[in-house]
Amino acid sequence: MTETRRLRRLRSSPALRRLVSETRLSPDRFVLPLFVADGLAEEEPLASLPGHYRWPAERVGVVAKEAEALGIPGVLIFGIPAVKDERGSAAHAADGPTQRAIREIKSAAPGLVVFADTCLCEYTSHGHCGIVEDGEVLNDATVEVLAATAVSQAEAGADFVAPSDMMDGRVGAIRRALDSAGLSGTGVMAYSAKFASAMYGPFREVAECAPSFGDRRSYQIDPPDGRQGLASIERDLAEGADIVMVKPALAYLDLLHAARQRFDAPLAAYNVSGEYAMVKAAAERGWMDEQRAALEILTAIVRAGADFVMTYHALEAAAWVAL
Ligand SMILES: [Zn+2]
Repeated sequence: MTETRRLRRLRSSPALRRLVSETRLSPDRFVLPLFVADGLAEEEPLASLPGHYRWPAERVGVVAKEAEALGIPGVLIFGIPAVKDERGSAAHAADGPTQRAIREIKSAAPGLVVFADTCLCEYTSHGHCGIVEDGEVLNDATVEVLAATAVSQAEAGADFVAPSDMMDGRVGAIRRALDSAGLSGTGVMAYSAKFASAMYGPFREVAECAPSFGDRRSYQIDPPDGRQGLASIERDLAEGADIVMVKPALAYLDLLHAARQRFDAPLAAYNVSGEYAMVKAAAERGWMDEQRAALEILTAIVRAGADFVMTYHALEAAAWVAL
């Protein structure tokens, strides 16, 4: 057996495995998603996302500080307004839930990078990500409202706006709107390769944004179509995106890998609510070890090519990897 390559030598002790480890997780890799809702006196636990809450904007600084203390560099804010309408008007209100949460976090934990989700689905009465006419989601009319929303989030102090709607031309329109409002320092993280996935189930319940008719397949990418994901990333970079994203992460690791090979931009991945819920539910039943499963999934997402990961496991994982 002298000529056999003995790969097991490299696995022989915990210290050696640590030395040769190719992929390392640290809190630097995580962004914590946060839900902020109007009309609450205190935080409200979320049944479908155990360990997460709907926060009143005035209290969200508490969890932001906790994230900062654990070494997590950023948070991503989703707002849920008291009143929804056809056009999602609360999305660009100066005193909307997202805008108030941005200001609160900037004052409580000024070192954090604040990403604001820029979409209309949490704000529209029909739950679609855009303006609807005759049962259709209109592209260009939606882009106008998204650009106004991005400007209002940037004015509130967001470091990055993060369009997640999947309309065509939104990144360019948002970039132009920010620049002409004198907000050229605000970045754009584009949800570029966003697929029409079953894995968003728990999120929709949390954000109260399940579409009241139809589905999102006319704007989100069909799961079999990986090349459309790459084309969408290329287009968003050409329109001025600073960071691009693949969402969901786990069933789309091939896309993360391909995007990492092809593009020289920071690449984010969204470890979505369904991926988190599956691990939590299995762990609750004693079918999986939660810590090992969550860290294996996050490691795989980073190994595939993500620079950082939006994950509901952020607080727990940051504590686990610091051990
Ligand atoms: Zn949306």
